[in-house]
Amino acid sequence: MTDHLDQFGGNATVVCDNLVKIYKIGELEVVALQGLDLVVEEGEFIAIVGTSGSGKSTLLNILGGLDVPTAGVVRVADYELLNMSNALRTDYRRKTIGFVWQQTGRNLFPYLTALENVEAPMVLNGSSKAARRSLGMELLELVGLQDRSDHRPEQLSGGEQQRVAIATAMANSPRVLFADEPTGELDTKTSNEVLEVLRTVNREAGVTIVVVTHDPLVADHVNRVVAIRDGRTSSEVLRRTEVSDDGEHTVISEEFAVLDRVGRLQLPNEYVDALELERRVRLTLDPDHIRVYPDDESAGS
Ligand code: ADP
Ligand code: MG
Repeated sequence: MTDHLDQFGGNATVVCDNLVKIYKIGELEVVALQGLDLVVEEGEFIAIVGTSGSGKSTLLNILGGLDVPTAGVVRVADYELLNMSNALRTDYRRKTIGFVWQQTGRNLFPYLTALENVEAPMVLNGSSKAARRSLGMELLELVGLQDRSDHRPEQLSGGEQQRVAIATAMANSPRVLFADEPTGELDTKTSNEVLEVLRTVNREAGVTIVVVTHDPLVADHVNRVVAIRDGRTSSEVLRRTEVSDDGEHTVISEEFAVLDRVGRLQLPNEYVDALELERRVRLTLDPDHIRVYPDDESAGS
């Protein structure tokens, strides 16, 4: 293992440093990620939110080793994903990470039972039949589906299929589990159940989880919500539980703007609109804060 303590993100499980992804369609260039920074520590359960087209899937496909960034550093569990050989990439996908897709049908083999689906990745890494069966049942139990082990996907509800998909993604004991809108096709109640299963898996198996979602209620389930806007992280919501002297637990959510490594900050749209900020702003430094003012001269011209 290489020591990255002197680098951005240190030895964190997921590190994106100034990540850029440009898609070229003929003459047209789409900048899907424009200098994105992200650090996820071992054992964290974070959610990435953002409007459609903000770059969430692009980011997750890069982290999952399914797509390659144009520039920047991306490191997951000590794998540098930018210049990886195909052999190493296959190894990485098979042994180091698990992936859950939005489309329930994409996660599972339709002709295999729940248990057989969970066992499938273990066949590739050569586990014995007995070992596969016992870990398979253990994982189905973890997602609360031990009594559905012999059901095929079509005999399961959408939420149950996603829970089997989570168990399947855990079959290779990954360091990190990535899920791209795993609740995208589910109603609110079922979404909550699936997010709670992810939380259980994070807590019980200690796996680091990065989930992409448009579900505004996801903050209730995770420790940290990272918002992406225009291919860059723009804000973070942190949740912590405070225990008062008389033992009462209060959950406190606080939203922060993200300051990137070169000092860039994204102002929330509603702040920009409220003061009609445009192109240039005036900044003044006070002992413990910074003020942002509209540039009145440019506004008048
Ligand atoms: P999200 O998942 O947040 O909806 P995506 O990562 O899918 O966003 O897309 C980010 C941007 O990149 C969008 O403008 C999208 O049109 C573009 N994009 C994504 N994938 C491709 C691709 N394969 N080819 C060209 N453009 C793409
Ligand atoms: Mg997407």
